[in-house]
Order: sequence, then structure tokens, then C-alpha cells
Amino acid sequence: MKTIDDVAGAGRRVLVRADLNVPLDGGRITDDGRIRASLPTLTALTSLGAKVIICAHLGRPKGKPDLKYSLAPVAVRLGELLGRPVQLAADTVGPSAHAAIAALRPGGLVMLENLRFNRAETSADDTERGYFADRLAAPADLYVADGFGALHRKHASVYDVALRLPSVAGYLVQAEVAALSRLTGDIRRPYLVVLGGAKVTDKFGAIASLISTADQILIGGAMAFPFLAAQGYKVGTSLLDASQVDLAAAYLDQAARAGTEIVLPSDVVVAAGRTADVPHEVVAVNAIPLDQMALDIGPESAAAFAARIRAAQTVFWNGPMGVFELSPFAGGTRAVAQALTDSDAFTVVGGGDTDAAINALGFPGTKFGYVSTGGGASLEFIQGHPLPGLVALEAPTGPAGS
Ligand code: ADP
Ligand code: MG
Repeated sequence: MKTIDDVAGAGRRVLVRADLNVPLDGGRITDDGRIRASLPTLTALTSLGAKVIICAHLGRPKGKPDLKYSLAPVAVRLGELLGRPVQLAADTVGPSAHAAIAALRPGGLVMLENLRFNRAETSADDTERGYFADRLAAPADLYVADGFGALHRKHASVYDVALRLPSVAGYLVQAEVAALSRLTGDIRRPYLVVLGGAKVTDKFGAIASLISTADQILIGGAMAFPFLAAQGYKVGTSLLDASQVDLAAAYLDQAARAGTEIVLPSDVVVAAGRTADVPHEVVAVNAIPLDQMALDIGPESAAAFAARIRAAQTVFWNGPMGVFELSPFAGGTRAVAQALTDSDAFTVVGGGDTDAAINALGFPGTKFGYVSTGGGASLEFIQGHPLPGLVALEAPTGPAGS
């Protein structure tokens, strides 16, 4: 993989695709981790004397401008972190962007407005995406892929632009690929995967391939409920997508044949609703009251998970074990985080909320082997799936760039 170190940057107009998709609360950035993660590449390029054009997306605007999703707060925060203002163009490939890029001096930066204000960015139509990518690529002579969290998307700024310009990986993508590569191919065993969280539909498919690579899969959070239901347990009012239960049963069979252990919670913390002050209690998984929901794994499960984690050589963790945002339901997530930091294993944490959880619970990122900035992208990568953004980096550059 070619990186920034392989190219001359001085005076070149460099289009950087960054992942600046930070969580916002009423226009305020609640976690600037992704902005910080993009700094090494941006500072390297500016010190090389490049003219840096940053493009990124924020949230899910519906293919047209929507000020709620403006990158304005991100440009301000990036400016604070870099120690100088970052100008934000009012559009992506329009007159404002053209003027701002034309005015760039060596070592200067400009940020384009949210890529997803353009429908073509995420279009499934190659021609529509390609036309947009032509316009994104036009003012640049080099492309730097640094938005790891978006690499699994076949989007114009991730995939098509990389086919049109000479392209290299940024330092974040380089670091992510180096760390996650230790979870594919030659893995130090036992290799243990901890899955949790609430985006069950998005992540469920990953289990099939993880059964063939991992030695043990520990499942908590809402991911556990289809499996508990498949084993005949009643999960009360817990978050459960009933359509997943048959698949969970099939995974249990597949795992048994493969000799991979799927480890489920034996106890859970239940409550009538999802609030901090609600009365809660620990029950065995065969005793979840019909009118209660499970909001965390119980202490017995947490201890069992922790013991397995401590005995592993490689651990990948995606998804909180419970509703860690509310302190009565944070115990399972805290126990797993603690076990990862205690373990001698090479540990990787992925997932936006999982990252938020370790921060909220006071575990410094440096206590883990690697904290990925990409949830979906890291899950795709460790399954061995080709990421469109990486595929495009390796592909020869087309006519627009040669
Ligand atoms: P990530 O962003 O790390 O990939 P997800 O987005 O899949 O993780 O899930 C994170 C969310 O899962 C958290 O907001 C947490 O409150 C929620 N969660 C975890 N366990 C449960 C549960 N038992 N019931 C409901 N929500 C849960
Ligand atoms: Mg999430």
C-alpha cells in the first residue's frame, strides 16, 4: 500500500477523504476522536507544503443541503486542534469550493461542505457517482484515502475518486490496516471475539465468518437475545428482532460443527424500562420476567466473559454489553473493558458506541492494543471482505488522473 511517505507533496493540490463523522448534540461535538485521528495526515501534508482539500461526510442528510448536518462545527474544531482556522466552503463541487481551492496557498487547508449534500455521493448508479467523482477530482492532482470508517462504502469520494487520481493511503488508514491485519491470516490464538450493542441487523451477518476464524465468540448486549430466544428462553420486553432467531439457531449449529464456542450470558440485569432510576435486578436467563427487559449482562456472565478474555491471545471487541449510558447497566461493559486492559492479548476495540463506552467509563485508549475509528469498516475488514476504498487504492488510475 502506497502512503504519503511515497509521494512528493510540495505545491500539489491534495484531496484528502477524511472520516470526520463525529457525534453531535444540538450542534455541539460530543466526541472529537475522529477529528483528532485525522490530524497526523493533515499536519504531514501541510508541512510538506501541499494545498490540502479536505472532504468528508456528516450524518445522513438526504442527498441535499441540510444545515443540521453542516460540517461547520467540525471545521471550527479542526481549526482549534491545528492551531489555525480551517475555511469551510459552502458547497462541495460548486463555485464556493472552486474559489476557496483557487485561493489555497502551499501549506493551506480548505474543507468542502458535507459530501452527502450531493445525492450522487452515495448513489448506487456508477454513472451518477462517476460524474460527481470527476468534479471532485478535477481540482486535485493527488488523492489521499484517510477516512477509514467509510472505506467499506462504494461511495464517490471513497471509491470513484481513487480511480481517477494518483492515490495513496493516509496515516490513519495505514495504522488501521496494520492493526486489523493481525486479526486476519496468521492470528495468535486463542482468538476471541466479543460482540454486543444494539445494531443487531447490521452486525449479525458477520457472525458466519467469525465462526470460522475465531475460537470463541462471546455475545452480550442486544446481540444476545436472538441466541437466547433460539435456545428457548423468554426474553421479556428486551430489544429483539424476531426475524433473527432462526439465523441465530443456524449459527449455533454452524459453531458446534466448527468447534467454535459461542458463549452467551447466563444472567442479565432486568428492569421495566430504559431509565437510570428504574428499579432493576439480576436474574438468570431462564427467569426473565415477561414484563421486563434485559439491559445488561449480569455479574456472573461478566466474570465468565472476563476470565475468558484474560486467557486469550487476540481479542476483538465490538458493541457494549449493556446500556452503558445508564450507570445501573454499565457493569458488563466495564468488566469487559477492564479484562481487555488487564489481558496480555493483542486487543482491538471497534465501534462508535464501544469507543464512547471506554471513554465514558474512564479507560484510556492507550490501554488497548488498538482502538479503531471505524465500526462497520473494521467488522468488514476482519471478515476478510474487500473494502471498496482499499480496492480502489490498488487499482490503476484511469484517464482522469494519468
Ligand atoms: P457500536 O456503535 O459500538 O457498534 P451499537 O451501535 O451496535 O454499538 O450499539 C450501541 C448501543 O447498544 C448502546 O447505545 C447501548 O445502550 C445499546 N445496548 C447495549 N445493550 C443493550 C440492551 N441489552 N438493550 C438495549 N440496548 C442495548
Ligand atoms: Mg453505534
